[in-house]
Amino acid sequence: MADCTHDCSTCASNCGSRSKTSFIKPPHVRSHIRRVIAVTSGKGGVGKSLVTSLLAVRSQAMGYRTAILDADITGPSIPKAFGCHELATGTDGNIEPVLSKSGIRMISMNNLLEHEEDPVVWRGSLIAGAALQFWTDVIWGDIDIMFIDMPPGTGDVPLSVFQSIPLSGAVVVTTPQQLVEMIVKKNVNMAGLLSVPVLGLAENMSFFTCPDCGKRHEIFGESKAEKLAEAYHIPAVARIPIDPAMSSLADMGRVEEADTDALAEIFAEVVRSREIGNYLK
Ligand code: ADP
Repeated sequence: MADCTHDCSTCASNCGSRSKTSFIKPPHVRSHIRRVIAVTSGKGGVGKSLVTSLLAVRSQAMGYRTAILDADITGPSIPKAFGCHELATGTDGNIEPVLSKSGIRMISMNNLLEHEEDPVVWRGSLIAGAALQFWTDVIWGDIDIMFIDMPPGTGDVPLSVFQSIPLSGAVVVTTPQQLVEMIVKKNVNMAGLLSVPVLGLAENMSFFTCPDCGKRHEIFGESKAEKLAEAYHIPAVARIPIDPAMSSLADMGRVEEADTDALAEIFAEVVRSREIGNYLK
């Protein structure tokens, strides 16, 4: 590459300068994390945080010690969905995660802000630094599966998370619109470029079932999930309906009561994914 600066943290090209493990950071010494799954989307508002929450709820309910790292620093919505509004505690730069009702360990920018409504108006490098500190400075303890709610898109922050945290795989969230399909391809391609396997494609707001007649309506157009998954060799697909009950549970901080069955196939792939333990040594 003619203008390669050899600083791979600012570039996604797969040139000879890149070493696959060079940017990987170890987690806190008191963290033992088996699998880390990034939940990503091409753009905001497609339900990435909801899918992250539902996967974590399913994981914890099935007996896996589960964590959520909310890397969506400027738009954190995980604490609200779980009703976890308390401030995280810590000493000497070490942070203790917050616990949900069912015992999911989580950390989010909102657990560090005195006022949850305060905006985070930082430059990209600081935002990426905060997301990585959630990995290196939080005492996660023993975790079977950690889900990372990624910031949307393919910018600075997702790039440095993808490069610095040893991921077992990614789950890509989309909705059926054409534009989103194009953006999701960018997302899948970024994961491929960085050698992170895409375990599942979750098509959110895929259909609506009429409560009166029981008929399915594809409000945002025909589903493209199966076709996209086939084209990109993604092993599992989920079609999540538009469900006002789900959004109100998330609004009320009671997402742990939501039905997670739509994500069964993707969760099975998460469990099958590679453990990161040996990779870190
Ligand atoms: P993102 O993380 O992609 O920005 P969110 O998960 O925060 O998106 O979802 C955006 C809003 O849409 C939230 O209020 C959420 O509760 C709602 N929502 C997401 N998916 C659904 C769905 N399948 N049915 C109903 N509401 C949904």
